[in-house]
Amino acid sequence: MTHQPCNCVADFNLKLRDHNTRIVETIGIPRDGRAMFTRPTITTEKIESRKRGRAAIAVPGFCPFCGNRYEPAPAKPSIYNRLFDANVRMECMWPFPVSPAPEKLADVFEYADDEQDFPEPLRDLVRSLDDRSREELYSGDSVDFQEAFSDLCGDAYRKGVHGWLGIAANPIPKPSVGGGVSFSWGYYRTKLLFAPTAEQLLENAAEWGEAKFAAAHAAAESGEA
Ligand SMILES: [Zn+2]
Repeated sequence: MTHQPCNCVADFNLKLRDHNTRIVETIGIPRDGRAMFTRPTITTEKIESRKRGRAAIAVPGFCPFCGNRYEPAPAKPSIYNRLFDANVRMECMWPFPVSPAPEKLADVFEYADDEQDFPEPLRDLVRSLDDRSREELYSGDSVDFQEAFSDLCGDAYRKGVHGWLGIAANPIPKPSVGGGVSFSWGYYRTKLLFAPTAEQLLENAAEWGEAKFAAAHAAAESGEA
């Protein structure tokens, strides 16, 4: 049995038959036990005809007619595995600006002006509040805060600023004796993330953790502490 993701070659052959023409196909028999396959042939030739041996075969990975992939895409690790492997914890996630916000995430808005990597679209929102609302937002008083916060959410609705807000946590890895890195949850950092979708937020969180671990491994290997 052969497995084909599309019938393009067969369909084309039907049309070409009236013109006494057909597409040349290459049959492949994988040695690793996968099913036999046929692919439209890509013509190859030797560059130097006097060199011994035949020209190599070039097999297309995608259908030249419809663009379907012939081989199944290599499996990507799931987002859950990536978060697990990079030791990323999600402390909380929230669709902004659906109110009320979880306290942990509402609190971060108090630092919108000071926090260096506060998400820009949200910082802009905070900055465009009038002075009184902004003071209320930073005041630490919960009644004032809630009022200012609903103003902020209203603004976000009007301006079409929305997405997922989340806090990711990741232990800080240290080079360990004898190479490699070690870490403990007694010593970790957090990052505030904002992304258009929940999926994207998790991807960004995984990327952040992976980058931190890659950097720690590189530092451990080069002998830096
Ligand atoms: Zn096709």
